[in-house]
Amino acid sequence: MVTGRGRSLGEVIGDGQRSFSFEFFPPKDGAGEAQLWQAIAALEPYQPTFVSVTYGAGGATRDKTVGITGRIARETSLLPVAHLTCVGHTREELTGILDTYAASGVFHVMALRGDPADGPRAAWTPTPGGLEHAVDLVELARARGDFRIGVAAFPEGHPSSTSLDADAEVLVAKARAGAEFAVTQMFFRAADYFALVERVRERGVDIPILPGIMPILNLAAIRRQGELIGTSVPAAIVDRISAFEGDPEKVRAEGIAIAAELCEELLDGGAPGLHFYTLNRSKATLEIFERLNVRV
Ligand code: FAD
Repeated sequence: MVTGRGRSLGEVIGDGQRSFSFEFFPPKDGAGEAQLWQAIAALEPYQPTFVSVTYGAGGATRDKTVGITGRIARETSLLPVAHLTCVGHTREELTGILDTYAASGVFHVMALRGDPADGPRAAWTPTPGGLEHAVDLVELARARGDFRIGVAAFPEGHPSSTSLDADAEVLVAKARAGAEFAVTQMFFRAADYFALVERVRERGVDIPILPGIMPILNLAAIRRQGELIGTSVPAAIVDRISAFEGDPEKVRAEGIAIAAELCEELLDGGAPGLHFYTLNRSKATLEIFERLNVRV
């Protein structure tokens, strides 16, 4: 058994104070690595509740998640959350990775299923000897030690789920299995987030659900990504951004303004905080903070 420490992240997020958190991904090369640590240094003074590092679909970046989260734990004041997915791993391998996280001082884990190698919309086949759903990984991490566990949530529904209600049931099952907080996929309508929260609350579960924020800095790229993960960009937002087509600076400024408006609507409506998909850069998040009057 491994042991964790400190207050549960669920308690911290749920205690009424706004939570800010930042997500990073393991870079592929030295230049990306330098950019990541620059972003971490620029965002650290804002004292986020946690920072999370994603787990790659396969290959060498997977080890980097262990290395980066361990280094964050050792060398910064930040609380790292390491992502882990069921893709391509047996149960024993997953247990080994959980132990490695704990040995490097990382006791917070995002327990995810992950996507099939052919992309988020391809059919899911579990690895032989591995786990089928994220809830199984929540259970594995709980049984292995004192891990504090986060899970994924989908305001517009997971692309392969049968209904929004079925999706809410999955989130409820993950909470009942021991997940303490959830982070959502990116979305652009606050109403979708609040409806998800309501579906979960109606089922008697009060797990904090952090909205995931991704500003639109490039409309075509976000639309492509959105089609894969089941997030739509509302027509009103497309119109606002398209009005500046051909002027990347203005597109960017409008994207930041739209994201800040969404953040305000979410916080005003009772969201426990905001989770920023930083893409390993600090600039856009800091521009949103400026608009929200969040200061060091
Ligand atoms: P699950 O909860 O297992 O759900 C997957 C699908 O199975 C859903 O359609 C669900 O409805 C269905 N399902 C679940 N349980 C059951 C059940 N018991 N019976 C029947 N159906 C069920 N991917 C990565 O590769 N690396 C990352 O680091 C990563 N980080 C992410 C962080 C966040 C905040 C989010 C929102 C997503 C992240 N993803 C990441 C993507 C994620 O792995 C995919 O969206 C994946 O398709 C679903 O993962 P899940 O954990 O929600 O899986």
